[in-house]
Amino acid sequence: MNFHILTLFPEMIKGCLGESITGRAIEKGLINTNVVNIRDFANNKSRHVDDYTYGGGAGMLIQAEPVYQSYMHVIEKYCKRDRPRVIYTTPQGRVFNQDMAREFSEEEDLIILCGHYEGIDERVLELIVTDNVSIGDFVLTGGELPAMVIVDAVSRLVPGVLGSDESAVYESFYDGLLEYPQYTRPEEFMGMKVPPVLLSGHHKNIEAWRHEQSLIRTKERRPDLYEKYMSENEKE
Ligand code: SAM
Repeated sequence: MNFHILTLFPEMIKGCLGESITGRAIEKGLINTNVVNIRDFANNKSRHVDDYTYGGGAGMLIQAEPVYQSYMHVIEKYCKRDRPRVIYTTPQGRVFNQDMAREFSEEEDLIILCGHYEGIDERVLELIVTDNVSIGDFVLTGGELPAMVIVDAVSRLVPGVLGSDESAVYESFYDGLLEYPQYTRPEEFMGMKVPPVLLSGHHKNIEAWRHEQSLIRTKERRPDLYEKYMSENEKE
């Protein structure tokens, strides 16, 4: 899977995604991150890509032309499909979740456009963006952190990226519930014991305990998810 990230701060992205699980996935060729500097497509000597907003108001806006040219560069040089999905990271988008990560992980090419300053000229957004995605109801200084969040969550769903002991199957949100509590050695820590069922070796009982704990935890921490799960799956 190829992630093409259009940004004004390429080093921020490269530094972060080169580490840990995404770093390993890049090394193994399971995912590819193509970081494109929008500034390389500025049509002036000083390489500036922002300007004042028409109508006044605070802050600068990224201009349409360099964004469009960086997008065309990616389309012409790297993408098989004419119209790959283009995600614009914006607080005005649909809030990112695991279902969206799953959907994006089925794409061969995903272009992620990072805004900065006050954002980007609306005209180029209208032309190229297929998905407006937010990572939550707060405002960040730029789209780089959201882009890394999206790449991280999507890549771990790409086959082979997680090792067998890091499976995404039983994690939170996989089946609409939060994950059950987990424990590792020692069996006792500051007087607190690992629940005996987990030491029993009885797989059916362990599975039942985990499911029950997932239900309790989801009801307590995310009643919205719990209601949805119960209406879709089972009656109490
Ligand atoms: N003026 C914009 C508005 O009110 O919607 C906010 C611009 S913000 C300061 C600069 C850039 O950061 C945005 O263009 C976007 O790419 C990114 N950004 C900020 N908050 C975000 C969020 N919650 N989710 C995704 N991207 C975000």
